[in-house]
Amino acid sequence: MLDDLSPWLLWPLTAILGLCLGSFLNVVITRLPVMLMRGWRAEAREALELPPEEATPFNLVTPRSLCPRCEAPIAWHDNIPLLGWFKRRGRCANCHARISPQYPLVELAGGVLAVTVLALFGPSLEALFILGACLTLLAMAVIDLRTQLLPDLLTLPLLWAGLLYQLLFQPLMLPSAVIGAMAGYLVLWSFYWLFKLVTGKEGMGYGDFKLLAALGAWLGWQTLPLVLILSAGAGAIVGILIQLAVPRLRGAPMPFGPWLVMAGWIALLAGEPLMAVYTGLLY
Ligand SMILES: [Zn+2]
Repeated sequence: MLDDLSPWLLWPLTAILGLCLGSFLNVVITRLPVMLMRGWRAEAREALELPPEEATPFNLVTPRSLCPRCEAPIAWHDNIPLLGWFKRRGRCANCHARISPQYPLVELAGGVLAVTVLALFGPSLEALFILGACLTLLAMAVIDLRTQLLPDLLTLPLLWAGLLYQLLFQPLMLPSAVIGAMAGYLVLWSFYWLFKLVTGKEGMGYGDFKLLAALGAWLGWQTLPLVLILSAGAGAIVGILIQLAVPRLRGAPMPFGPWLVMAGWIALLAGEPLMAVYTGLLY
């Protein structure tokens, strides 16, 4: 049915869908870490046998969009993806506090990812799976940048979805995907412990292992070296540049998740030509 849609309709509709999904991701990015913190606090109080705290409902739908400073509700016409932020020049309509450029940037990234996936995979169920993976990765990268967390609620479903994707679309790849998931976790887990034994420091978190396990499920074990080279290489170069430019950041921990996400996007969307070059270099 999707094949009958006129391209004149399909492309703009896909872009708008991507922008709206990006807008929803912003809600996930800002609220999920708060929801997790609240949950952990409540569990800790229960374990300590303290009375539960009075808490107003807080989830992905309640309360509706508010200004982060004055908590004035944001009108629907100021909440339109991309346009709303520019219409208000990045400020709250009520108190004129600055609203983070994260909002339009994530919305724009959602739109760009949706159009790219459509261009590469055509209007298909497979494209929806790939878009879902790319958007989940986007949410993880921004959450990791903001909070240094990679929630299990995102990494583990991404892993299961990767195995389902292989089962549905490339069943012959399934063994490679299962090995990829295990190897992805093990590689970073071993690196973490080796680094900790040698330097006494923690180089990354368990969320990174789970994220690479998920990428292994989506890409197969054969692509993992490429993902590691891309993410570690880009992370190291940018990390060194940032520390040279801003000396006070020297020694500050840098999240590794965003680099894994970037490498994962590249491998998901341009994996085949890249692997051809990569294996060509090896032999
Ligand atoms: Zn405000």
